[in-house]
Amino acid sequence: MFRISQYLRELAQAEATGSYPAVRERGARGPVVIWNLIRRCNLTCKHCYALSADHDYAGELSLPEVFTVMDDLKAFGVPALILSGGEPLLRPDLFEIAARARQRGFYTGLSTNGTLIDAPMAARIAQAGFDYVGISLDGLRATHDKFRRLEGAFDRSLAAIGHLGQVGVKVGLRYTMTAMNGHDLPALLALMQEVGAHKFYFSHLNYAGRGNIHRDKDAHHQSTRAAMDLLFDHAWAAARAGSLDDYVSGNNDADGPYLLQWVRQRLPQWEGALRQRLVAWGGNASGQMVANIDNLGHVHPDTMWWHHDLGSVRERPFSQIWNDTSDPMMAGLKQHPRPVQGRCASCQYLAICNGNTRVRAQQLTGNPWFEDPGCYLSDAEVGAASTPFESPAKKGTRRTIEIAHA
Ligand code: SF4
Repeated sequence: MFRISQYLRELAQAEATGSYPAVRERGARGPVVIWNLIRRCNLTCKHCYALSADHDYAGELSLPEVFTVMDDLKAFGVPALILSGGEPLLRPDLFEIAARARQRGFYTGLSTNGTLIDAPMAARIAQAGFDYVGISLDGLRATHDKFRRLEGAFDRSLAAIGHLGQVGVKVGLRYTMTAMNGHDLPALLALMQEVGAHKFYFSHLNYAGRGNIHRDKDAHHQSTRAAMDLLFDHAWAAARAGSLDDYVSGNNDADGPYLLQWVRQRLPQWEGALRQRLVAWGGNASGQMVANIDNLGHVHPDTMWWHHDLGSVRERPFSQIWNDTSDPMMAGLKQHPRPVQGRCASCQYLAICNGNTRVRAQQLTGNPWFEDPGCYLSDAEVGAASTPFESPAKKGTRRTIEIAHA
């Protein structure tokens, strides 16, 4: 995750005081775990990485198994659990799991489509003490319902945001941009203010599950740049106004270098300080600081890697699986710098971006270490040339465009 607002708040402080805020040291800790507790979902969204549908899936982790895994995660230093699905609210024991997570001291988030949250459910969520609830909205009514393949989904999710706000739950919007819904982004950013949501998570499309099936609908790089400019403008205005509204992005670590360029053009005196911060952030954290456990207990480098199994928590503790680099993919993800190829290998921003999301490269070319086709920076910007590829896995095209260095 790329915390746009965090960096822009620091820049706003630097502008106001004349000095860049000091780095806050954080002790060693384990990865944030996104935990798909259930695969069943009442929706069948077009970009669902889990390929979820509205039926039960056999063999999911039982409540005692979840508790055992949770104890191991705690001992391993995992700071946060994001409880996800499918639709996690369809799991009958979700609130027992949430209570245990809170009791064990995890930051606990809930990732939901929101359609099942009425006023009583919002009250239960508040009572469970979730730190944050992310609700997916992929556009305004017509766009969202088409994406979510359910008429009325937008109204129900919007109502959920209202119900949660009324009981004091911190709620944010989650948006995945493609070529089909980019036009709704400005209106969604305005809607965020209207409904009192305090976080906007902008996800780029990653090529997993249905997101991979529909990858030819990925946003054009030029649209992505325009979207990021808009997001940065909103985050910068919020930071300067002292607002605590959070703008974050995910699934494209080129956002880091792109923010650096944005700052170079507007606040060049702080470019060096920001660059240091971004290098410390270190870009893509799959297999390092972000982990995934699926509904069956299989561990993956992140949620987009369900096609790559690192082992089952039924056979080995998560802590052992996570530290095991006998798997070549895991070894590569943990390597520094990663063994990336193509223009990523000689990119001037590699130390910031860490080569971005390896899944897109693998899905498009068959080679997980090839340059990320989702990188929307031009060859001139990254200081390296794109490499042509030919692969049987090739479908769709890397939307390379030459963009004048703005
Ligand atoms: S070329 Fe590769 S390393 Fe450089 S910014 Fe793009 S994705 Fe990141």
